[in-house]
Order: sequence, then structure tokens, then C-alpha cells
Amino acid sequence: MQYILETSCYPREHELLKQLREATFDKYQFWSIMNVPVDEGLLLSVLLKINAKKILELGVFTGYSLLTTALALPADGKITAIDPDKEAYEVGLPFIQKAGVEHKIDFFHSDAFSVLKDLINNGKEEGSFDFAFVDADKENYINYHKLLVKLVKVGGIIAYDNTQWFGSVAEPAGGDGGETFKARQKSCD
Ligand code: SAH
Ligand code: CA
Repeated sequence: MQYILETSCYPREHELLKQLREATFDKYQFWSIMNVPVDEGLLLSVLLKINAKKILELGVFTGYSLLTTALALPADGKITAIDPDKEAYEVGLPFIQKAGVEHKIDFFHSDAFSVLKDLINNGKEEGSFDFAFVDADKENYINYHKLLVKLVKVGGIIAYDNTQWFGSVAEPAGGDGGETFKARQKSCD
């Protein structure tokens, strides 16, 4: 994994993504792990090659995945980005601005479910999105999915982060249920 990161990922990481990642670590220390890692950012950029222009992002935090997708979209691309934590978004915003992609982003300081419901209720947005990246509150993924299948067009992509949850889904029955994650957290205390 380290070899892949060093030879394929870090050399391709945009300078402002690197700066955003470092600024997030300075402020949030351990919780900077909430940013998608550089290899996943590159995967998101590849997925957007389905000719995506109009996309959704649920769960922005300081905006590592948001800046990644904003850089990957064409100049007329648009991202509806939703997070109730504006303070975190503002940590990443200067880097988004410096990268010259702020015009592609509509940030909603809100809970994702209510914004998705509004988009559906306004009657014009169903089937209009090419792509959605979901990285918000995990227990609501199933509720988001019901709305996202309406908003994302047939042939589009809905991507969910953390579905493997540090490998815990592959644990045998009676496995440690996320102890790996807790151990990592503890090691940073
Ligand atoms: N994708 C981001 C990381 C997101 S971390 C990145 O790569 O940098 C998860 C985020 O989900 C947090 O910022 C949290 O505020 C947000 N979140 C929690 N509940 C939410 C909700 N109901 N709607 C939208 N976002 C939510
Ligand atoms: Ca995540």
C-alpha cells in the first residue's frame, strides 16, 4: 500500500489538495482521517470520467473530496455540497478558492436529508444528477439512497464511503465489531 501511495498517489495529488490535507491535520489532528485518503480521491476523479457535470456530495467536512471532485469536473460542472458543519468547510475553503474552482460549488449549510427532499419537491431535479458521493452520517445511508435513486439519472453513479468500515464487514460472525477502528483511535489519544 505504501508503495502505491508513494509511486502513484502522492505524485498525482494536486498541490492545493495537499495543502488542504495539511491544514485539516493542523486543526483536527486525529479526526483529519475523515478526509478521504489520496488514493480514494484519485478513484473519485476516475469515476467522474462518465462525463459527469452535475453532482451531489453529502458530508463535506473540510472539503478534501469536494476539492477533488471540483478539480475533476469541467469548468461548467456544478456540485451541490451539503454539511451542517460550516466551520469545517471554512477550513478548506481558502484552498478551494485558490484552486479557482469555488464557482462550481453550491454549499448548503444543512442536514442532507432536508436538502435532498427539497430538491425532489421542487419538481425539476429528479434524474438530473450524474453522480453522488455520500460520506455523511452512516446510519442514514439507507434513507439517502431512497432519495438519491430518484435524483441521480439512470446510468449515473452513487458512491458510498466507509461501507467496509475498516474491514469490519469481512469479520467472521462474532468479530470485534470495529475494534480495529477503536484501536486506531486510541493510539492517537
Ligand atoms: N467527504 C469529506 C469527509 C466527510 S466526514 C472529505 O473527504 O473531506 C463526514 C461529514 O458528514 C462531517 O463533516 C459531518 O458534519 C457530516 N454530516 C453529519 N451528519 C450529516 C447530515 N445529516 N447531513 C450532511 N452531512 C452530515
Ligand atoms: Ca468517510
